[in-house]
Amino acid sequence: MLFRSVEVPAIDGGATEAGCDDPLTFAATRLPLQAAFERSHLHSRPMSQVQPYELLRRNAPLLISIPHLGRHVPADLRDSYSVESQLLEDTDWHLDRLYQFAAEIGATVLNATVSRYVIDLNRAATGESLYPGMIATSLCPTETFRGAPLYKTGTAPNSAEISRRVDLYWRPYHAALNEEIARLRQLHAHILLWDAHSIASVLPRLFSGSLPDFNFGTADGQSCDEAIVAGAVEALRDTQWSWVVNGRFSGGFITRRYGDPGSGVHAIQLEMCQSLYMDEDAPFQWRSELAAAVVPVVRASIEGALRSVMEKSTPPHKADIVLPSQL
Ligand SMILES: [Zn+2]
Repeated sequence: MLFRSVEVPAIDGGATEAGCDDPLTFAATRLPLQAAFERSHLHSRPMSQVQPYELLRRNAPLLISIPHLGRHVPADLRDSYSVESQLLEDTDWHLDRLYQFAAEIGATVLNATVSRYVIDLNRAATGESLYPGMIATSLCPTETFRGAPLYKTGTAPNSAEISRRVDLYWRPYHAALNEEIARLRQLHAHILLWDAHSIASVLPRLFSGSLPDFNFGTADGQSCDEAIVAGAVEALRDTQWSWVVNGRFSGGFITRRYGDPGSGVHAIQLEMCQSLYMDEDAPFQWRSELAAAVVPVVRASIEGALRSVMEKSTPPHKADIVLPSQL
């Protein structure tokens, strides 16, 4: 393998590649949810000590961002949250596990550790809506996707508290994104930023009917060269899964903010239906038999996009890069 992991920092006292030993996360697949929520708080630290991300640094021209993976709710906020919030049901469950192949293709991975119920890292820090005129969750949401209150009455964050969360969690995550994009651009003329998401396939409050299985977003073509998106989509042709480009989800803040094809940064958001690899109802179990079928397709999609990225790079960049599947 030509892309070797040159640095895998143990952030926050021992996070591992699988994330399983991270004291801030808990094994949802092994614990009843209420116990898991309790456990997460038992392991909480003062907010100032919580790392908002886990960074797995590698050298391929590929950065995978997973901004809604986090399940940590700081201890000092716990009492303000409602009973309904404790399922953390809008988490992008298990995506660290789904994207474990990232190590084999040399991808840098940025995993969020803090729950989107605390702050949504895929929204602008200014709080502006991603989808004006439509129901969309905000920087510090106050309702679940299904409309249940996240906070007890009168405890939703005010502007000062939102600013505090921006400073503690949002800014560090985006500083890491900026730094990794700059680092990889030093190594490669073109890079791919893959913003990884998953969502329940049916959410009447947010969209009608069922979502396509794979929802690619490129800010309506602004965040990524067409040939690279075509490379990603190619893996879905002649498969059992449905897909769309720039449908209901055209890319969140990260895709829009960082995608800049003219500067060699190509950003694609993939919003997958959770039904492809897990149970969409609590306790949100990983389904190995489903995942075994779909993970190779996700990988092929990323590799297809990556090949197109590499074709855009001029030697010596291109000559240095060989995907494992090409060896
Ligand atoms: Zn998401």
